Amino acid sequence: MVLSRTIDMKSKILLAPPDLSGDELSYIQQAIATNNIASYGENIDIFERQLKTYLNVSEVVAVNSGTSAIHLALIALGVERGDEILCQSFTFSATANPIIYLGATPIFIDSERETWNMCPVLLEEAIVDRIKNGKKPKAIIAVHLYGMPYKTKEINALSVRYNIPVIEDAAEALGSRVNDQPCGSFGHYAIISFNGNKIITTGAGGAIVCNSLAEKERFIHLATQAKDNAPHYQHSSIGYNYRMSNLLAGIGRAQMNHIDKHISIKRKIFSSYKSQVDGNFCFLEEPEGSFSNRWLTTLSCTSFEIREQVRISLTKNNIEAKPLWKPLHLQPVFQQYRSFINGTSEEIFSKGLCLPSGVGMTENDLNTVTSILSKAPKNLIYKK
Ligand SMILES: *Cc1c(COP(=O)(O)O)cnc(C)c1O
Repeated sequence: MVLSRTIDMKSKILLAPPDLSGDELSYIQQAIATNNIASYGENIDIFERQLKTYLNVSEVVAVNSGTSAIHLALIALGVERGDEILCQSFTFSATANPIIYLGATPIFIDSERETWNMCPVLLEEAIVDRIKNGKKPKAIIAVHLYGMPYKTKEINALSVRYNIPVIEDAAEALGSRVNDQPCGSFGHYAIISFNGNKIITTGAGGAIVCNSLAEKERFIHLATQAKDNAPHYQHSSIGYNYRMSNLLAGIGRAQMNHIDKHISIKRKIFSSYKSQVDGNFCFLEEPEGSFSNRWLTTLSCTSFEIREQVRISLTKNNIEAKPLWKPLHLQPVFQQYRSFINGTSEEIFSKGLCLPSGVGMTENDLNTVTSILSKAPKNLIYKK
């Protein structure tokens, strides 16, 4: 049973499997050789330094997931029970879950069409509405979905005008840039994910970008059970077990040596799909000044029905293809919350598809996928 599944997994063309062809094993072995497999060690220090340099930011804290990074960023902003958080609706549920962990209330903001991310017009509408109701939101969570940068200039301008900090969810956007400034350096805090499917991985992991060494120390304190400085176990606040292990940081350390290669391959995969099947489908272009890491290539079909035909025929051919993130304001678990909606994310969700975009894809794999895409019904092909 197990053997046949292994063979099946091998032949299946996956959405975003990890690429572990570098020095991952030697850094893991080093962690074991030095007996540092827990919450401190050389791999953590070096991985954090690599990220800090790559993002050109003050400090980076490695934690055990992107979700816990968002949780700690909200805590650092003083978010408490009953506070309201403005959150991009078109995203993975992990963006909003930590709001609920804290007993705070998400308010969902729909997308604009150019980047598929948080619409600044709706964001301002929501801010004005909540302030009028006597409840100024505590934070904004904006997301660079699929690696495409959100409208950083507009969102930051609103953050400054209304004095509401932005948590930048760059989970999918390591290596993306706006006017050459790295995504992950725009928010008051930013978070990154190193989950197995992301552009680089530690198996499970994440990071928080923050502004000073004092902030970094506070994040590490919270992420390692908030132990006070005392000979016994003394706690003055609630802590979390969120620190990245030195073992997994070894994987990240090796992956960082290949991030630019990964991005260039991802971008080639996007170009290849676009050049081979454009006309039948619509691809999201980079706005002037934006550079996407193209974590996943996405496309839009003319209708939900066509999207389903394409998705099902890919699946039948042992190719993993998934619909886009379902907007959070449509999720059963989040439906009850207030949202500011223009219909964009719902439409994109109904017609969009994520295509296999793995760094290890072969020319042959790409041709297999595009040949099936090319068979989409001609009378229903996309017209701009
Ligand atoms: C993956 C992801 C997260 C969560 O990261 P984990 O490391 O899986 O906890 C958060 N936001 C977005 C947009 C993501 O894609």
